[in-house]
Amino acid sequence: MSNKIVLALGGNAILSDDASAEAQQKALQTTAKYMVNLIEGGHKLTISHGNGPQVGNLLLQQQAADSEKNPAMPLDSCVAMTQGSIGYWLENALVRELKATGIEKEVATLVTEVVVDQNDPAFKNPTKPIGPFLTEDQAKEEMAKSEVTFKEDAGRGWRKVVASPKPIDIIGHKTINTLLDNDIITISAGGGGIPVVAPSMTGVEAVIDKDFASEKLAELVEADLFIILTGVDNVAINYGTADEQKLETITVSELKEYKEAGHFAAGSMLPKVEAVLTFLENKPKGKAIITSLECLADFGKKEVGTVIVAD
Ligand code: ADP
Ligand code: MG
Repeated sequence: MSNKIVLALGGNAILSDDASAEAQQKALQTTAKYMVNLIEGGHKLTISHGNGPQVGNLLLQQQAADSEKNPAMPLDSCVAMTQGSIGYWLENALVRELKATGIEKEVATLVTEVVVDQNDPAFKNPTKPIGPFLTEDQAKEEMAKSEVTFKEDAGRGWRKVVASPKPIDIIGHKTINTLLDNDIITISAGGGGIPVVAPSMTGVEAVIDKDFASEKLAELVEADLFIILTGVDNVAINYGTADEQKLETITVSELKEYKEAGHFAAGSMLPKVEAVLTFLENKPKGKAIITSLECLADFGKKEVGTVIVAD
């Protein structure tokens, strides 16, 4: 059966320790090989991806070269730039892989804006650290100059923190859907999307969680299957302890119970669990999978990763 799949790619599938373009392209070539497995099954695929390490590095480059004649770009523009660069790398890798396997399909990358509410409570409590580390004095100087918040980050220095508001709409989702219906593979909503506030639709300094943005995308294109690829093969309970237990097929209510019991770490596994729960609440007939890239090799042959279904 042909399914509409939203595949959310974790940052580690792109960048491990070597931040050169060459190394990231190489990593994405491997990633593309695994994705072809999904495409070969005749499925309609749309891919979203993280950009945390890449946008962090770009902000450092911008800062280092900042001058009156060549000013540093703000965060929303930097997100757009990384959507472009990562999109190019991934699209290029997929095109080569499709060519090598003789599959005649096109790939399109979209620069994607994601709408957030300017009254989202997250704007009153910025939590997401971004950009370079400053000293306490430098941070306080910046805070005195403008309305930015800096916070001490785990003993490593002071970092700007921005809001992480919830996505409420994805601009261009009808275009993404039209492309999917025409069997064109799309890459969109990179880095959680470029945050723009409703109703003015202006770009803001914020970071939308890529797991939530991908969920919104899955909801809006009415995906049958929502896959989140990350650093582990399975979601686990008692993660990192001697009692760790990998979850295989699990229902929404079981997963909710584990969530309420505090099994999933905030900022890493928790947003993924919340994203799949929201997806399945909106589409009870849908299916969600949280797993690693490597496990995709067996997709279609057997159940892989943690599979979440309605009760
Ligand atoms: P991504 O870049 O894919 O978003 P994250 O590091 O944000 O990756 O989140 C995935 C990580 O969450 C896993 O690699 C793992 O280290 C961690 N994690 C936290 N809690 C759990 C859990 N209960 N089960 C599995 N992994 C967990
Ligand atoms: Mg993450």
